Amino acid sequence: MRGLSIRWRLTLWYGGVLAVVLAAFGISVYLMMRHHMLERIDDGLREELSDVLGEVERATERGAMLVWLNRRFARHEGFDFQITTTDGERLFSNPRLGDRQLPVRAELSMNKNYYTSLEPKEDRRWRVITRKVAGPDGPLVVQVARSLGDFDHEMGELLAVLSVAGPVALLVALSGGYFLARRALAPVDHMTATANEVTAQRLNQRLDVANPHDELGRLGQTLNGMISRLERSFLEMQRFTADASHELRTPIAVIRTEAEVALGKPLDEAEKQTLLSNVLEECERLTHITDQLLTLSREDAGIAPFPREPVDLHALVEAAAETMRPLAEAKNQRLVMTGNGRAVVSGDPSRLRQVIYNLLDNAIKYTPEQGRIEVATEAADSTVRIVVRDNGIGIPPEHLPRVFDRFYRVDKARSRAEDGSGLGLSIVQSIVAAHGGRIELRSVPQRGATCTVSLPISSDREP
Ligand code: ADP
Repeated sequence: MRGLSIRWRLTLWYGGVLAVVLAAFGISVYLMMRHHMLERIDDGLREELSDVLGEVERATERGAMLVWLNRRFARHEGFDFQITTTDGERLFSNPRLGDRQLPVRAELSMNKNYYTSLEPKEDRRWRVITRKVAGPDGPLVVQVARSLGDFDHEMGELLAVLSVAGPVALLVALSGGYFLARRALAPVDHMTATANEVTAQRLNQRLDVANPHDELGRLGQTLNGMISRLERSFLEMQRFTADASHELRTPIAVIRTEAEVALGKPLDEAEKQTLLSNVLEECERLTHITDQLLTLSREDAGIAPFPREPVDLHALVEAAAETMRPLAEAKNQRLVMTGNGRAVVSGDPSRLRQVIYNLLDNAIKYTPEQGRIEVATEAADSTVRIVVRDNGIGIPPEHLPRVFDRFYRVDKARSRAEDGSGLGLSIVQSIVAAHGGRIELRSVPQRGATCTVSLPISSDREP
């Protein structure tokens, strides 16, 4: 059964159940008909018996009784009669019965009907009613018999009809069932063929869904959803690779140009200095981008399931901000810190420090001189929020939803001038997500930006 297709298994199950139902139906029809016909025969026998009994009861004397009986019952359609004494002496029988003597049971109660089916070997079967009654000169056994020939013939015909019609009906139903199962499952074959055609190059293909509400329709929709997600991540990967190569090309092109210039003509000392410092700057940029890419790919792959330990965020934010303070001071910006006590989260301190560095780096980069940058750590019941707020150039609303995308920069020229690659916020988002937190960025252009990171507080409060 296991090796069979669903189509065949359905058909066989259906056929098995139907065969049982048909057999039960056939057997009950046969038994009911048999019972009913036998009852009709017994009714006839009873009727004849009561006629005979009428004569017997009327008679006051045996001779007269036999005359009457002979007159009425000697030639009677369909039924045979026999009257015997209790000793078995036959007093009357109709000529058709002839030598055939109907057997008489020894112990019979008075005035009670006995029904028997006789099965003589050389003859047809008989149905007999027997009753012991009071005769004019002692008890008599009156019997009426009827051949079961017609009955057996009719029952035989019924049996023949049922045993031919049953299998024929089963066969018709089985082929119908197989056809229906085939039809119902045809979309599966179609889906299999289409799904087989879906490859990395043809992810835009979708399965046909005829009826989205039935089981196959839902399966088709689920598969289509899966292909869509595959397509999306595949496109994202392609875009990421293209962006990354583009990002890496620019510094390499600059270095190459510088080298060509250096080779093309003799340089004086000052020119050499500028040229080499340009090359160095581009090398630093390359290193920075490759480091960031490495970080991102590690976060993506989830390798090194990072060590989690209790981290006091307030202390960590304070230390990170102090590290960044010289950068802010170089732009004459005010870096203000606020916080309400200890807030312990479970995580990797070096990754969490990276989050603060990236957010502060952005705030410092995109806030003009004399600006103000605020860092607040706010612990609530179950979460701690780190808010980094600046009063810089802000982000136009149409760019807000995309700033977490990899390599996305609002103003490419400006960002590059500020040494930005567009990966900073992506890294922050990955790290925050890995810690089970959320990040939110709000901004009013030319008024500033506010970035809020919420992390779940660890139940273990001791760092
Ligand atoms: P980048 O390395 O270019 O700074 P990020 O991923 O950190 O890349 O940020 C993406 C873009 O979001 C930046 O190019 C910048 O335009 C914008 N941005 C991020 N933070 C701020 C901020 N505090 N103020 C204004 N713009 C911001």
